[in-house]
Amino acid sequence: MLHPIESSATAAARRPAAQPDADDSPWHTSAACRSDEAGLFFAPSKEPTAARLSREEHAKRVCARCPVLLDCREHALAQPEPYGVWGGLTAAERRVVLTRRRRRDAEIRVPARIAG
Ligand code: SF4
Repeated sequence: MLHPIESSATAAARRPAAQPDADDSPWHTSAACRSDEAGLFFAPSKEPTAARLSREEHAKRVCARCPVLLDCREHALAQPEPYGVWGGLTAAERRVVLTRRRRRDAEIRVPARIAG
């Protein structure tokens, strides 16, 4: 399997035309998953839960040795990418991170409004 960005037609289709093409970003060229062909990063249809958990753990092991893990993770959070393992996080884990960030940002804004 190629890097998720290269292999995901839906990800490319979701990318706004006015935005720079993420495939051109330098971090992408160093992805550890570029030559992986095991299909680890995206779920096949109707994948049983046990198989999904095993596949995701395997994908995360690839991510753990990836030199661009943080760039990939932030890209997936910023899009946000709704499917697949990106930057060592599953889609559900990314949703948790985004929820925590939104809460944190809201907490930061509240004192600013009180002070203002
Ligand atoms: S962090 Fe994982 S998904 Fe992202 S580029 Fe590296 S190996 Fe691929």
